Amino acid sequence: MTPTKTTPAPAAAPVPATAAQASLYQQLRSHLGVLKLADAAEHLPAVLDQATAEHLSVTAALERLLAIEVDATVARRLAGRLRFACLPTPATLEDFDYDAATGVDPHLMADLATGHYLESATNVLMIGPPGVGKTHLAVGLARKAAESGYRTYVTTAADLAARCHRAAIEGRWATTMRFYAGPTLLVIDELGYLPLQAEGASALFQVIAQRYTKTSTIVTTNRPITSWGEVLGDTTVAAALLDRLLHRSVVLDISGDSYRLRDHHARTQTLRAAAHHG
Ligand code: ADP
Ligand code: MG
Repeated sequence: MTPTKTTPAPAAAPVPATAAQASLYQQLRSHLGVLKLADAAEHLPAVLDQATAEHLSVTAALERLLAIEVDATVARRLAGRLRFACLPTPATLEDFDYDAATGVDPHLMADLATGHYLESATNVLMIGPPGVGKTHLAVGLARKAAESGYRTYVTTAADLAARCHRAAIEGRWATTMRFYAGPTLLVIDELGYLPLQAEGASALFQVIAQRYTKTSTIVTTNRPITSWGEVLGDTTVAAALLDRLLHRSVVLDISGDSYRLRDHHARTQTLRAAAHHG
């Protein structure tokens, strides 16, 4: 019997030599579908083509197919973690200018960037006036943590207080406390810009207390810890909160020129120069 010539392959699927092979191919597609390996399913025809063209071993072809699914899964998980993290700015540690910052030790930041502090549930407290890069560094560390696979969430002290207030009204206090206990890294930005009511201070204390020794929290503030009694409206709560926050912690005292003001000065200078020459 002379073999019949097969018609040219459709672009998507390799040419099945026999009906049995075609059915095997359909079964494989269906397996990938049941397992929800959508990316592997999509690339199956191409990988099978490559396997034939490059004489790949079964092992090599399987590896190539599953690597596609693994890459897509890893990318999806990262995107999910970054979405969950609610990073307020695109700031990264890489674009932080250490020469412009006073009190930020690049070696310490490099160490924090490795994420080892998360393993020991170490907290980070960043203290400094507005505009020195506290949010930048906190968001940069949060991004790193999310990229390294840790569940991360960024909020402000005011947002945390507002959300807990709503939760208390709506009877969701316990759920909300569990939410703040969840992330491996929680960033609480801008403590001290707005004074907290007693309920807000108590919410903040509970969040810090339940995370203490288990997971890391980064707190940024423009207020020295000596005035946290004022910030939290209660010196006892402030002392108890600081006790837990500082128990195992790294403190970055960032002073120096405000980067925002510096930028503003530079712009003003440029504008003035332009005005003089215009
Ligand atoms: P803070 O939270 O301390 O008030 P931010 O982190 O919001 O300050 O910094 C204000 C702006 O200046 C941001 O856009 C931030 O990216 C930028 N910035 C501050 N310090 C630096 C720095 N050392 N290198 C690069 N950008 C900086
Ligand atoms: Mg800030």
